[in-house]
Amino acid sequence: MPLHDKSKQYDVVIAGAGPAGCACALALKDAGLKVALLDKATFPRDKVCGDAIPGRAIKTLSAIDQNYEAAFKHFTEKCETKRTSLYYKERSITFDWVGSAYTCTRMDFDNFLLTLVKDHTATDIFTSTLPHLFTATNGGISIAIKNNDIDFHAKILIGADGAQSAVAKQLTSKTLDRAHHVGSVRAYFSGVANLENSTTEIYFEKKFLPSYLWVFPLPGNMANVGFGMLSAEIARRKVDLKKVFYDFIEQTPRLKERFRNAVQVGDLQGFGLPLGSRITTISGDNFMLSGDAASLIDPISGDGIGNAMLSGKLAAEQAVKCFQAGNFTKGFMHGYDDALLGKLANELKMRYKTQRILSSMPILLDGVFLACRSKALKRFIQKGL
Ligand SMILES: Cc1cc2nc3c(=O)[nH]c(=O)nc-3n(C[C@H](O)[C@H](O)[C@H](O)COP(=O)(O)OP(=O)(O)OC[C@H]3O[C@@H](n4cnc5c(N)ncnc54)[C@H](O)[C@@H]3O)c2cc1C
Repeated sequence: MPLHDKSKQYDVVIAGAGPAGCACALALKDAGLKVALLDKATFPRDKVCGDAIPGRAIKTLSAIDQNYEAAFKHFTEKCETKRTSLYYKERSITFDWVGSAYTCTRMDFDNFLLTLVKDHTATDIFTSTLPHLFTATNGGISIAIKNNDIDFHAKILIGADGAQSAVAKQLTSKTLDRAHHVGSVRAYFSGVANLENSTTEIYFEKKFLPSYLWVFPLPGNMANVGFGMLSAEIARRKVDLKKVFYDFIEQTPRLKERFRNAVQVGDLQGFGLPLGSRITTISGDNFMLSGDAASLIDPISGDGIGNAMLSGKLAAEQAVKCFQAGNFTKGFMHGYDDALLGKLANELKMRYKTQRILSSMPILLDGVFLACRSKALKRFIQKGL
């Protein structure tokens, strides 16, 4: 949508049209509110990710509207994944999942979500539009757009602008904490041998535990391959992630063989993952943070799309409550924190504990591989994953 008027008034402005922002816009569909969705990027756009779409993402889509889940089921640019194989010291275990998950490039998945917003809601969508200054005013938040003398005014601002959220930086005291942040790299490859479309693969290496290299299948015999490590460890050990990535493939016999004729498509790109292992401010007077802006990524699996969408939906529900009550204060907005943490806090706490235990006692991973020889123990371990 082009920008005409100099000041645009909205009930809700969502900054960021990734999974968090789109889920929020979709969940506001029937709220009767005037909603704008702003994104600095031009869509379809890429986003550095492992491209694994967790079950929670699709469950959230379904909870917003079952027709959206049905639309995703018909979306062809995806693989349905049913199991994960773990590899460590030439041993392997395969876990079959109870529910399904998917892989889909973020170029395709995020564009699918934005198309749902375009087709099914009255949201005003402004892409290639960079909101960069967020200022609290008496009646809400004023949002200035870079290189444009337009500004937006929102009664409620949802910061869904990702890991480097400008909203979080300007409206809260959030700073990067390397103990709760992962640095990672990923590249696409074509022609990886013996890739199974329904299986995601994880490779551990003792000296990097609990970090791992992933190989996730994508349509068209493509693979998303990546490696991530706690930023504090990267700094402490002065790790060159790009070098580790290629060395990992070269020095793991199984991978070396399978990548012999593979071709890298595009660059090896890096990006950060803000983990949900610390409590940060996620709401305040007239605003909420959602998705990576709120640091919600699973500390073990690195999954963030499902939590981002769940938080977008819950932020929409809180926005509706605020308008019903005519209350936009920090105290009332905290209902969002309660709802979100009520759903995620215990899970994130457990996952963080496991991550810490594994990194201080790598021997435990040997134990897991041994225990999985027993079907009963394997089932027990799978429940905890
Ligand atoms: C290497 C890597 C691998 C990952 N692998 C997985 C995985 O396999 N599965 C999984 O579930 N999660 C994975 N994640 C995490 C996942 O990518 C994020 O958790 C997820 O993208 C969060 O969604 P979001 O909507 O909060 O943010 P994003 O997807 O980052 O979307 C934010 C949007 O905001 C826009 N934006 C940025 N700044 C502004 C601004 N100032 N104003 C307006 N718009 C702005 C951006 O253009 C973008 O469209 C991975 C992350 C990384 C880095």
